[in-house]
This record gives sequence, C-alpha cells and structure tokens, in this order.
Amino acid sequence: MVNAQNNPLLGEFKTPHQTAPFNEIKNEHFIPAFLESIKQGEAEIDDIVNKTTVPTFENTVAALDNTGRLLNRTSGIFFNLMNSETNEELQNIAQEVSPILTKFQNDISLNPVLFAKVKTVYAQKEKLSLSAEQQTLLENTYSNFIRQGANLSDEQKDRFRQISTELSKLSLTFDEYVLKEINSYELHITEKSQLAGLPESSLEASAGLAKSKNKEGWLFNLKMPSYLPFMKYADNRELRREMFLAYGSKAFKGNEFDNQENVKKIAALRLEMAKLLGYKNYADYALERRMAMNSGGVYKLLDDLYEASFNKAKQEKTEVQDYAKRKGFEGEIMPWDWAYYTEKLKVEKFDLNDEMLKPYFELSKVADGVFGLATELYGITFKPDKSIQVYNEEVIPYEVFDADGKFLSVLYTDFHPRQGKQGGAWMNDFKGQWKENGVDSRPHITIVMNFTRPTETKPALLTFDELETLMHEFGHALHGMLANSTYSSLSGTNVYRDFVELPSQIMENWAIEKDFLDRFAVHYKTGEKIPAELVKKIVDSQNYLAGYLSNRQLSFGYLDMAWHSIEKPFEGDVKEFEENAWEKTRIFPVIPDVCMSTQFGHLFAGGYAAGYYSYKWAEVLDADAFSVFKEKGLFNKEVAQSFRKNILEKGGTEHPMILYKRFRGHEPTVDALLERSGLK
Ligand SMILES: [Zn+2]
Repeated sequence: MVNAQNNPLLGEFKTPHQTAPFNEIKNEHFIPAFLESIKQGEAEIDDIVNKTTVPTFENTVAALDNTGRLLNRTSGIFFNLMNSETNEELQNIAQEVSPILTKFQNDISLNPVLFAKVKTVYAQKEKLSLSAEQQTLLENTYSNFIRQGANLSDEQKDRFRQISTELSKLSLTFDEYVLKEINSYELHITEKSQLAGLPESSLEASAGLAKSKNKEGWLFNLKMPSYLPFMKYADNRELRREMFLAYGSKAFKGNEFDNQENVKKIAALRLEMAKLLGYKNYADYALERRMAMNSGGVYKLLDDLYEASFNKAKQEKTEVQDYAKRKGFEGEIMPWDWAYYTEKLKVEKFDLNDEMLKPYFELSKVADGVFGLATELYGITFKPDKSIQVYNEEVIPYEVFDADGKFLSVLYTDFHPRQGKQGGAWMNDFKGQWKENGVDSRPHITIVMNFTRPTETKPALLTFDELETLMHEFGHALHGMLANSTYSSLSGTNVYRDFVELPSQIMENWAIEKDFLDRFAVHYKTGEKIPAELVKKIVDSQNYLAGYLSNRQLSFGYLDMAWHSIEKPFEGDVKEFEENAWEKTRIFPVIPDVCMSTQFGHLFAGGYAAGYYSYKWAEVLDADAFSVFKEKGLFNKEVAQSFRKNILEKGGTEHPMILYKRFRGHEPTVDALLERSGLK
C-alpha cells in the first residue's frame, strides 16, 4: 500500500541537491503523489484566500507564486519521464491525472475570492513602489486570471473548464498517436543490394537494430538517426518513396491512430475558448502575450521574409532539378528525392558531406567543447556527479558551478534514442529556480537528444546538424541554469514564446567558427584538429538551401496561423485546409497521402499554437545579437557578461524588448539575418 510515508515522491528528497530519487520512484507512486500534491496546493491557496488581513503584494501575489511547489516537483518528474522514458502505464497515468491537474489550475484561476484579492492589489499598483520584477509579476498574475476566465459568468466558467480539460486530454492523445505510428513502422530489408548508396554507419546501425530484434538483415524506422541517412543516401528510389510516405502519413491513415478529427477538435476548442474570453480568434488571444503583439506583427514578419525566401527556394529547386538531370534522372524531382539529390549536389558544390565531418565530432568531445564555451564566456564549470540518481543509465548528471565556485545548477544529459523517448531534442527542468526567505533555490535542468548511438566499432559521432542541435538545447539550458529571479513563474525560460529561442539559437552561431571548433573538433582516431579547409567548407555551405529552409519554416508559420485564425469551427477536409494555408510557399506538387497537421505536435500537443513563427522571429534576434560578438570578439567577456546579466539571468522579469534593448542598445532589425543567410 502506497501512503505518504513510503511514497518517495512525497516529503523531502534526501538526495544530493534534493534531486529526484529515481532509484526509488515506481509508476504506482505517481497517482497518490499527484493527489497529495494537489491537496497541499489547495491548502496553500486556502491560506491565501482565508487571510482576513488586507490583501497586499506579499500576502497575495508573491504568496501565490510560492504555491504548488510540491505539485511542480511531482509534475516535473512525471512529465519529463513521459517524454524521455515513457511506457503504456505512464501514458495511462497521464490520461488519468491530466483532468485533475486542469481542474486544480481552473480552481485557482476561477476562484472569485482569490481574484478579488488580486484585483485589489492590482488597483493600487501605482502606489506600491514595486520593483520591475514585482510589477511584472503583478501584471502577469492579474492578466493570467483574466485570460483563464476569472471575469466570466458562472455558466461561462463551467464551459471554460470543460474546454481546457478536453484540450489537455486531446493534446496527450495527439502525441500518443504520433508516437504509436512511429513505433509501428519498420522497413525490413534482407537483400543488401537494395541498400546501395548507404554509408557504412547507417548499414551498421540498421543491422544492429535488426539483430536487437532477432531479425536477419537490416531494419530502418521513422526515428531521425535511421530515417535521415536513408533518405539522403539510399539509391533505391522506390524505397525512399516508401519511407517518405510512411513518415509523412503518420496519424493520417484513417486507422485508429488518425489525428484528423483531433486537429479539428483542438482548433475548434481553442477558438471557442478565445471567443469566450472576448477575442475574435485564438491567435489574437495567444499573441497578446508575445513580443510580436498581434497577428499583424506575425504576418509582417512572415511576409517580410516571404518573397526573398520563396524566390530563392524556387531557384534552388531548379538547380537541384538540373543537377538530377545531369545525373541521369528523368522527370520532376519529388520530396523523396530532395534529401538524396541535395546531399549529392552539396558534395559536388562544397565537397562536403556528413560522413566527412562526423569523425571530428565525437559526442563526448563535443559535449566538452560546448560546456567549455560556457566556461569561457560565463566562467561556469561542470562536474559529473555519479551520486545523483538518474532514470536511465545512459543519462549523465552534472553539478554546475558559477565562476566564484557557488553551486549553480544540476544538469542532466540524455543523448540517444530509445523506445520510450519522443523524437527530436529538447531542454526541460525537473525543478525551477526561485528565491525565498533569502535562499536562492537552484534549478535542475535536463537536455534530451536523439543522437546517433555508438556502434560496436565506433564511438557516437555526430553530424554537423546534431552538433548544432546540442548547441541549441544547451543554450536553453544556460537560460535555465543561470536564472536569477526571485519569483519562480518569471524565472529562466519562463519568457514569451517568441523570445525563448534567442538564448538557444544564438549558440548555434559559434558552431561555424574555427576558433571555437579548434577546441574540441579533433579526429576520433588520429587526434588531428579539424582541417581549416573543412571548416571553410562548412561556412561556405551554411547558406546552402537557405531559401528552401526559410520558405519551409514560413510555410509552417502560415499553417499555424491559419489553424489559429479561424473564426468558426472548421468542418472540412484537414488536408485541403493545410494545402490552402501554405499554397503560396509550395514548391513541390501536392502529395495526397501525407499530412503535416496530423503529426505537428508543436501546434497541437505543444506550446507553439500561434507561435511557430517564433523560430523565425528568434533568428532575427539571434543574428542581430550575435553580430555584437562578431564585432567585439567571439569570446569577449564583456559582451558575454552583458548577455548574461541582461538576458540569461533575467528570465521573464521584464518585457523582452526592454531586456533586449538593454543588451543591444536598440531594437533588432532583419538586416543581420538576411545578410547571414545570403537572402539579401
Ligand atoms: Zn529551442
């Protein structure tokens, strides 16, 4: 019987830095822990509500920020495991607790007494002489209540609750279906001749996968390390087509894991919620709390970049088509030919391919190099600590220290794909940062990847893209680790969605600098430094397909805005809706069997609804911000210090434009981005 005494998720963690005691946590502990955490959270809220003294900033607004710590801790552990080490049991638990969690959230934001207290404090905001951070907390708290329905009638509040509960369930289902679809597909090859063109590393990995499942030959799946090399190198066009269709038709096959209805339901419920709150569509609701401000701001960005991107994309397609023709290919190149021919053309143009670079990017050395950059810029250091428990033996835990030796953060790294891990790469936290009673409570951050595994003969060797991915997620991790706020809801990556990618994307800029690469990019066998001519090739090839890639991101941005700008529920065909939305960016013929919307977790299961444009927005910011390092020195400590103090440490304590201008001296412009990507 699990009770509060023997449930390791409850009570104080007696582990180093009070990290999660993974060795003791079992699936059966979660539901009771959630229930108990919620009970505690409710009691904390009741304390605030039942106070008979006059509501003040401290006893209401700051006190609210301090509630729910146990629940956050439980959720942090649970949802990280859901992403990185999931199984059917955890998924069932998630389905069970998600309505309870939503109810708890709604009970807070729809509590009339609590809202009245917040309103009282808010009404005096001019007279309270609050710090900038406190002002932001007050503004956010007040507007969160409004945005969560505090001003609605009782009847409307009930509907609001139903909608948010339904939405949180639907997004879980959406993700689950996509993962089920990924795991249900395998391409099993027994004739080696069918694998002509594939590099040794891909053959070895796929043979290993087959062996692990007691099968002859080679197995390929829809996870990136298996799928991408196949699409880039397999000479067999029919098989490439098969893989492409398998990938592109996820959750779009009319089977039990089809997401079409879920897409429509999610979009319709979001619309209904926005309308309840007085907005004309969901985009208007979402964008109110973004740097871009409104739909107009988003479309301006997309449209500003559209012409240069689309025209360049068309030119690039013609170039690739001509190249394919020279290689004896007849007919129009299709999406399943794109990676294959662009990879070969890239080799011809730049004499560069993934396999030439991989020997220089051994994972452990790369990680040292990336950590080393943070040491150089910010003075922070990383010490592996085996006494910190992990949820899988592949995870490496570190203690991170500041320049003055003070403990800064725990960092977990989890690099390789597994059955129970979602695809892609992300940073998250198990625990956030805050200050309470003069004590700075430091964060526990994790970065999770799906990098090529070591094989029997080789260590894990990264592609250049994977190096960039690591830099990117590590940038998010810095934002989390260096957090220096008082209030947890304003700390670290708790910033506007279109600001959150600045710390991550700026890191990618270093990846093409020889002075940086020289520190860690050495051949895994010979120890020889990456040759200058190879780095030059990386730089030259950086803008290869810049038009295509930019156009592709814009197409996703337009699709996202289309789904979230509808003003009445969409009843028609999902595929048709999608094709209409990105028609102006289309460079390939329509492929009837594939659909992006049904597998677009960012939009329908993650936080990027009416926010996908943020990637481009952040590119504008990161190019503009990195130009300062370019000008004053890649490792310039003053610039780094200013970036740390004004951006990384500040989290969401002030409006991002204010923070940005403090670092940069002025608002960002698109010039640096257009120039960097050769679109100018
Ligand atoms: Zn990111």
